Amino acid sequence: MDMKKLASVLIPDKDLLPVEEYEKIYPERERAPKAEITRLAPSPTGFIHLGNLYSALADERSAHTTDGVFYLRIEDTDEKRKVEGAVESVIRSLNYFGLGFDEGAEIDSPLNKYGPYYQRQRAKIYRAFVKVLIEKGLAYPCFCTETELDSVREEQTSQKKTTGYYGEYAKCRNLSEEKIYENINAGKKFVIRLKSQGGIENKIAFRDAIKGEVTVTENDQDVVILKSDGIPTYHFAHVIDDHFMRTTLVIRGEEWLSSLPVHLELHKVLGFKPPRYAHTSSLMKMDGGTKRKLSKRKDPELSLDYYRKAGYFPVAVVKYLMTLLNSDFEEWALKNPDKDYRDFKFRIEKMSRSGALFDLDKLNDVSKTEISRLSAEECFDFLDKWVQEFGSEADRAHFKDKEYIIKVLELVMGIGGKKRRKDIERAEQGVRLIDYFFDDAFAPEYSYRFDDETVNTVLDEFINTYDPEDDNSVWFAKVKAIAPKVGFAGETSEYKANPNAFRGNVSDLAEILRIAVAGAPNSPDLCTIMRILGKDRSVSRLQAGKR
Ligand code: GLU
Repeated sequence: MDMKKLASVLIPDKDLLPVEEYEKIYPERERAPKAEITRLAPSPTGFIHLGNLYSALADERSAHTTDGVFYLRIEDTDEKRKVEGAVESVIRSLNYFGLGFDEGAEIDSPLNKYGPYYQRQRAKIYRAFVKVLIEKGLAYPCFCTETELDSVREEQTSQKKTTGYYGEYAKCRNLSEEKIYENINAGKKFVIRLKSQGGIENKIAFRDAIKGEVTVTENDQDVVILKSDGIPTYHFAHVIDDHFMRTTLVIRGEEWLSSLPVHLELHKVLGFKPPRYAHTSSLMKMDGGTKRKLSKRKDPELSLDYYRKAGYFPVAVVKYLMTLLNSDFEEWALKNPDKDYRDFKFRIEKMSRSGALFDLDKLNDVSKTEISRLSAEECFDFLDKWVQEFGSEADRAHFKDKEYIIKVLELVMGIGGKKRRKDIERAEQGVRLIDYFFDDAFAPEYSYRFDDETVNTVLDEFINTYDPEDDNSVWFAKVKAIAPKVGFAGETSEYKANPNAFRGNVSDLAEILRIAVAGAPNSPDLCTIMRILGKDRSVSRLQAGKR
């Protein structure tokens, strides 16, 4: 058979470059010997989840701890699954978590020398290589219809045979020249399949960067490499792209491990040296005593939007994922509390071979710790970002007064003080915590534990002597001075010595003031709260607190 002729009938494009040219167009990258070139290669479906972030973090760290490059390639060979704005959304989501690409689709970078980074725009490259494979007799056209393929699959299933297009089932593998042209002339649709040279009796020893030594069975399936619309399959496209984008390390989900033999064969027939592959295990969670994969349907925490909406501290999510990626990260972080997580020596080889167990409670703990380390300014920025995107109209109005909020945060979060507040996991909690500093959000419950007369006397007495210029000790002395007027002990020691002699202690008295001013029996230092609120607001709250 004249293969050259067949190739030019099947791939009639006039403008294809000789394949050798591509080695020159996309030369080896200049890089340090250990520098890793990694990529995130999502389909533009618009859904990017925690598992993608987990994998992207492994890519990003592998590249950036070795002076390498992390790039974004869009695998859009399946037009049906494409969603508008999906690429921007991937970039935005990763940026939110502090991960940035050096190169790639929609990335403005001088490094963009290996593009285009959208697979659909690379059709010419793939087609040039398919043509060569046909010329070499390593690929052929297949005219089988979906219905024919379905019935073969059914037959294989019923006979408990491996399903697929191989051996005796590969009907178009040995079509005569005459039959091929007859089909083409009849206008039959065709795909191009690899003419597999492998056999399942052969085993290949393969070293996965995460899973270590794995033995896989050689591929014998004549997989589709070019679909009937002239666009390649993932299998073919990614092999070409990873070669010409000079990827050194492919990190991807373990669901791809089963097609690795196909990919290894494709590299071989194309004459490429495969990159290193690292297959990550899925994120798991405990559910009623059993471990299972995180699921899109059951687990809202799989979606990255969940973390943005709830206002998780982005670095906390990343740090938590780091603990799942490399088990020695946690210890390192404890020893180096002030260091950036990027200073940790991430290594893909240290990743766990079995599924990483995702635990939201642990993530919450990491988030609490991170938030408790923020300066007032950082804390403001963090809360403000959430407020601008997810807060109410009122929240946004409150956050206009940065100076005021900073004062409030210093007090409420204990910033710069001896006791740092350590129970805030998310921005939303932080924002709600300071509501009472704003009159329109102040919603006191007035849950006093004393009769109205006592409450009113305490509040009136305090109003009479209150001076916003008082420092804490004078302020407190004035509170104590009210005690005898309502039969309370002015000193805790007096109260403890003879509790029956008093109706309450000075702390109970302060509680009455606290409920009136802060709306709840517990609050940070009340004298400071009053100073922040100012005289007028403090007094009007004390007045309004009377029963
Ligand atoms: N486009 C593939 C996916 O979204 C990428 C797999 C890979 O990283 O090679 O699953």
